[in-house]
Amino acid sequence: MECLSQTAEKDYNRWSGFLNIRFWKGDEMEYRELGRTGLKVSVIAMGCEGFVEDNSNAKAFMDIAEESGVNYFDMFTSDPAARSAVGEALKGRRNKFMIQSHICSVWKDGQYVRTRDLEETKAAFEDSLERLQTDYIDVGMIHYCDAESDWEAIKANGIIDYARKLKEEGRIRHIGLSSHNPKVAIKAIEEGDIEVLMFSVNYVYDMLPGTEDVNDLWADSVYEGGFENMDPERQRLYELCESKGVGITVMKAFAGGDILDEKLSPAGAALTPAQCISYALSRPAVATVCSGARNVEQLKESIDYCNASPEERDYAEAFANFPRVSWSGHCMYCTHCDPCVSSINIADVTKFLNLVIAHNESNGIKEGTEAFRVPDTEREHYRLLEHHAGECVQCGLCEARCPFGVEIRANMRHAKEIFGY
Ligand code: SF4
Ligand code: SF4
Repeated sequence: MECLSQTAEKDYNRWSGFLNIRFWKGDEMEYRELGRTGLKVSVIAMGCEGFVEDNSNAKAFMDIAEESGVNYFDMFTSDPAARSAVGEALKGRRNKFMIQSHICSVWKDGQYVRTRDLEETKAAFEDSLERLQTDYIDVGMIHYCDAESDWEAIKANGIIDYARKLKEEGRIRHIGLSSHNPKVAIKAIEEGDIEVLMFSVNYVYDMLPGTEDVNDLWADSVYEGGFENMDPERQRLYELCESKGVGITVMKAFAGGDILDEKLSPAGAALTPAQCISYALSRPAVATVCSGARNVEQLKESIDYCNASPEERDYAEAFANFPRVSWSGHCMYCTHCDPCVSSINIADVTKFLNLVIAHNESNGIKEGTEAFRVPDTEREHYRLLEHHAGECVQCGLCEARCPFGVEIRANMRHAKEIFGY
């Protein structure tokens, strides 16, 4: 089985050298709210592959991160040497960073292992605090759950109770879950404890149904046929997260590097790293993309996303011309249809419309029935927009610019009907 760090290595082996760092400014970082946590995180975060590969990288990574405004990093590893090196590098600047550290990741026989054993989990958590030289973790991420039976085991073995207790004590500030499977993630989120989801987000996985075996996502057979539109369960997951205020932190934004390579890409055409990051950041609820950089140059390449122009970030034109993929009629929230003559934010109106429909459908409620309702969150988000669907003059100019043939005028009429203005 390919482990998480091997996938990240594939990503970077293919990415390395792909981007020329035209100018290194490091001062244009963008920030987003991480769901309802109250944390404001940089859109580029650090993975921990670089610390695992070479512990001596830790200080240089933290220096670059601090200088460029990266304020969030993931520690899925339980490698004691990596934890200690990061702890040393964090000295005197703990408050500059938010740590997403994984619960249930333990160190055995010289390697990282996933466990569901409560005592092992507790010991590994204490070890993480001690080595990272901190008395709290910002997001305690329950590690790598892709099977429903595993989620049940997490609960039955007392892991969720333990996470709740840590949160009550202030030793973790928020509870998270990492997963590749939308079915399990939806179940966990609907049960209410999960505030942050670490999820694999890229357009290839987004078109595939969820699976309990992550290896299915990169099996050659999966790439043989054509692809059509988002997997409805993944779409539902993103919309559920947005509607419940669960922030998403992204892993595998390059699908193991395959989508950066024309020969390996299932679409038959390559995207650039900036397009991949931009795609991930345009999914509902996504706050940050974790970079699996293995050295300082690669970390700078990731951060260079913030210097990319709108044209360099734009993935819509490329998607529309992919030979083997179709998103016909499906809104990708890409904003390619802007500007609207009435200054309506078409992507946001469409997103809120979809969220309302998804919310009702997830409760088995059909549109046009008495039970159909607009949830307060979406009603308030919609109210805060400067312009509303009711201002649409039905000119159709936006539809000519939409690469995916979305019926925008119909969506605006629909939104007006649902929200009332
Ligand atoms: S309507 Fe089309 S162009 Fe506009 S955000 Fe949706 S997919 Fe993009
Ligand atoms: S059809 Fe409506 S949403 Fe599209 S540009 Fe015209 S006014 Fe804006």
